[in-house]
Amino acid sequence: MADQIYDVTIIGGGPAGMFASFYCGLHELNAQLIESLPQLGGQVGALYPEKQIWDIAGMPGVTGRKLIAKLTEQMAIAPIDQYLGETVEDVIKEDNGTFTIKSAKRISHSRAVIIALGNGAFTPRKLALDGADALEGQQLSYFVNRKADYTDKRVAVLGGGDSAIDIALMLEPVAKEVHLVHRRDQFRGLEHTVTQLKNSSVQLDTPFLPRALKVEDDQTVTLNLKKMRSDDEARLNVDKLVVNYGFTSNNAALNQWSLDLAAERNLIKVDSMMETSVTGVYAIGDGVTYLGKAALIAAGFGEAPTAVTALAKKLYPDKRMAMHSSSMGISK
Ligand SMILES: Cc1cc2nc3c(=O)[nH]c(=O)nc-3n(C[C@H](O)[C@H](O)[C@H](O)COP(=O)(O)OP(=O)(O)OC[C@H]3O[C@@H](n4cnc5c(N)ncnc54)[C@H](O)[C@@H]3O)c2cc1C
Repeated sequence: MADQIYDVTIIGGGPAGMFASFYCGLHELNAQLIESLPQLGGQVGALYPEKQIWDIAGMPGVTGRKLIAKLTEQMAIAPIDQYLGETVEDVIKEDNGTFTIKSAKRISHSRAVIIALGNGAFTPRKLALDGADALEGQQLSYFVNRKADYTDKRVAVLGGGDSAIDIALMLEPVAKEVHLVHRRDQFRGLEHTVTQLKNSSVQLDTPFLPRALKVEDDQTVTLNLKKMRSDDEARLNVDKLVVNYGFTSNNAALNQWSLDLAAERNLIKVDSMMETSVTGVYAIGDGVTYLGKAALIAAGFGEAPTAVTALAKKLYPDKRMAMHSSSMGISK
């Protein structure tokens, strides 16, 4: 709905934004969450899905992937609108006190905003070869959005971390052949995934560095590979490339927004309600600063209910809100 005004817009779908989403849903706020990546999970999902996290209350040891799956499950109990793969480029405070949120894809409106940007929008580290940019979204991708797009294709996955291995193993059952191209002989994945990889049909092209690429007349792509510490070269012809060289993040973009947010070292200053220097704009998670702030998931989980409760009281001063989820009659 083009003209609808959300009660709340959450910008950022890391753990802090995800928990804020659930909390908005719980209080039946009309809310949206906007995340720049095509998936939720922030640093946890993008940078360390296979690592064990030990300091989440009530979860003595949980992988990043499991934590994000559990948060996603929790969000589904009280869903709000979700826009993935959309980077917020500006937030403008209007004279009537509402906010206009601009991304390259959409303009939306909201009565309050929760900024949960962490270290800033993630962007995949690009393949730095001539011609690579022109192939993006066609033969070359940085994410696998639909496994079906790889059915019966010859695929090269470039990268050597957990996620690159996961992608190779995920595509193996549907693709015609999968190559994993890495500049080292060793992979940085957990032992059990590396063993799974070695027992799979994924062809390990190591230690090779992609040096050039060429699109053939039949639209397939040929990679020129150079063997590390050697003059040997090899060629690999495939239908599709998936590049997984990690992510970069940068919160300097926030400085370009129209909001005049008080900040310290690029971190947004907030009060004890998690409200920023701009009335109606709240901020939570790794991107904020206050005396005693800890950049931890558990801290963001505490900040989310504080912000949502504070803004809900302002938006609906006459509404009596239940404080405890156990009194809200939720059934799964
Ligand atoms: C290797 C590693 C291990 C860690 N281990 C632990 C641990 O054991 N325990 C612990 O508590 N913490 C750990 N942390 C820290 C933890 O991951 C962070 O505290 C947590 O992810 C912060 O959550 P967040 O939601 O504030 O931000 P993030 O996780 O950074 O999420 C922010 C999200 O906002 C999105 N975003 C940014 N800008 C925009 C925009 N303009 N428009 C739309 N979306 C945007 C980003 O794409 C991102 O998904 C670890 C961090 C790393 C890197």
